[in-house]
Order: sequence, then structure tokens, then C-alpha cells
Amino acid sequence: MTTEYLDTGAASLARAAELLRAGETVAFPTETVYGLGADARSAAAVARIFEAKGRPQDNPLIVHIAAWEELGPLVLEIPPTAQALAEAYWPGPLTMIFRRSEVIPASVSGGLDTLAVRLPSHPVARELIRRCGFPVAAPSANRSGSPSPTTAAHVAADLDGRIAAVIDGGPCSVGVESTVVDLTGGVPHLLRPGGVTAEMIRAVAGACEVDDAVTHRLRDGARAASPGMKYKHYAPQARVILLRGSSEARAAYLREHAQEGDGALCFDGETSLPVPTMTYGREDDPAAQAAHVFACLRQADERGFRTLYVSCPSEEGMGLAVYNRLLRAAAFEVIELG
Ligand code: AMP
Ligand code: MG
Repeated sequence: MTTEYLDTGAASLARAAELLRAGETVAFPTETVYGLGADARSAAAVARIFEAKGRPQDNPLIVHIAAWEELGPLVLEIPPTAQALAEAYWPGPLTMIFRRSEVIPASVSGGLDTLAVRLPSHPVARELIRRCGFPVAAPSANRSGSPSPTTAAHVAADLDGRIAAVIDGGPCSVGVESTVVDLTGGVPHLLRPGGVTAEMIRAVAGACEVDDAVTHRLRDGARAASPGMKYKHYAPQARVILLRGSSEARAAYLREHAQEGDGALCFDGETSLPVPTMTYGREDDPAAQAAHVFACLRQADERGFRTLYVSCPSEEGMGLAVYNRLLRAAAFEVIELG
């Protein structure tokens, strides 16, 4: 298929909505990463998402809506905590998990009886969903396993010829996928960290548990609360290794261990590393790190690095989201430099 490249003008959004209405897939910008959308009510349309991405059938999708009132029909109940969190953080980078109603086919949720829903803040995403008039299922618009796309060029690199259209809305502002929080139990349970932090959820809901899988490898045979967490994820071709310690310790380690063809992803101002470097933000600026991390992982492959040594981010606040993605890109390979 020939992929159409669209801008964000009214005629382009009308075309994108027309394609979605016809059961096709369209990639569009959100504030987190680019999403690959399809009509969430249609099992046939949603199947095209799984096919284009090469996504395992049991990895559930997030359904996107344009207004709070659109949530009710999709879910069996809206807990009071969800309403409070929506008042505080919707529209925005927060996905909430509810019990799924019959309106949405089970395949959207990878067979689970729950449903993940988000109301994005990006004006293009909202206008597109509004024009459709139906909920839009949209996982990240990348090939399954590769770094998430934060520009239309990233989408094109992964999915050109496999999807009906891409809307180019420029780079995404948050840069990592939405926070996922499960509200079907008593206490909000954070499955994936993102732009809305655990602290921000606690401030509204009083409590928030962080799932073990956010920072640890799942034990063999353990059931993933968030199925996406069990797959190798966000990974470039290069081998990724996290280096935890001071800048001086990293420089010393690399002087001893780095080889020809290796590179580093480091903090702004970390200039003394003895290999070619890219920077992804100041050490104390996790929002900047989030905005750049996926583009840097893609760039590592463009530059042909064999091993990419990454300065390990802090796990505080939004840093947890950056750390969670890098940990998976590195298949949990972290070197403690003391
Ligand atoms: P993506 O949109 O590509 O970032 O993927 C969405 C992720 O959200 C999945 O990989 C899951 O980890 C999580 N997710 C979506 N729906 C559910 C659900 N019903 N229960 C648990 N996790 C979910
Ligand atoms: Mg994804």
C-alpha cells in the first residue's frame, strides 16, 4: 500500500478521518509519542494495527477519546478515583484502566476484560478523534520492539507502505508513552511510568502502588500485569548498557572497556567521555531526557554504534519513566560503578 503523508490542515484531517472511518490505519501525533490509530469498535480495523506493527496479539491497545463524556459507554464502571484523576490530569499523558464494556472488541485489549483509555491533549489528536466521532485505538506507531516514534520521520522509517497515512505534527513534547494506571483494584496501581508521575497520582488519589515490573525483570512464568512489559522493547540494533555512577566513574570505565565503534548517550555537559557521544538532557532535567531519549536510540543505529553506553538517569519523578524505557532498551543490563 502507498502511505499518504498529510499535514495538520483541515483538509488533511478530514482525509485522515475518512480513512479511519473506512477501517484503515492512520498514524497521528500526540503529546507523548506518535500513535497508530484505527476504529476501536471494529475488530477488523484493529487487526490492521497488530499486522502493521508486528505486535503480539496479547499486547493490549490504548483507546483514545476526545471528551470525558465518551468514556462512559466504553467501560462498565467509572470509579470515583478515576473521575478525580481525570479532572486533574485529562487531557494529558495519563492512561487509566477500567473494566471493558461490550462496545469494544476483546481483541483491542489482547483478550483481557479490562480496557485502557486516554484523553490526549495534543490538538491534532483531539481534532482527529472528534472528527471521527468514535473512539480510536492507538498504540505507538513503530514496529513492535523498536524505539517509540516521536516524529513523523520515525513513523515513516518503521511503517512506510504498511499503513494508510501519517499526519506530520512535528516532534512530540513529552517524548515517552503515557503513564498507565490500573483503577480496577482498590489502590491505583501504576503499570507504566510516564509524564504523570506516581507522586502526582498520590496527590489526587491519596495512594499509588508502583508495579514491580516497572524497575525489575519479570520472574520466569510470572504473569505481567501490563502485558507490554514482558516483551523486549524500545530497543535499537545496538547493544545498550546503562552505566550507573558519577560522570568521572563512567569516563574511567569507558577508557578501560570501550572499543572502536562504541558510543555513549550522556547528559548535557558530560564532555570527557572517550567515545563519540550524543546528549539527551541535563542530569537534573528528566523532562528533557524523556523528550530526546527515543530519537537518540534511533540515532545510535544511524551512526552504526555497536554498543551504546548510557548515563543512567535518576528514578525520581519523571526520571522513572526514562529509566523504565532505558532499562528495557538495555534488556536490564546495568553496570554499577559505585
Ligand atoms: P503502547 O500504546 O504501544 O504504548 O502500548 C500500550 C501498553 O499499555 C501495553 O503494552 C500495555 O502494557 C498497557 N495496557 C494497555 N491496555 C492494558 C490493559 N487492559 N491492562 C494492562 N495494561 C494495558
Ligand atoms: Mg508501544
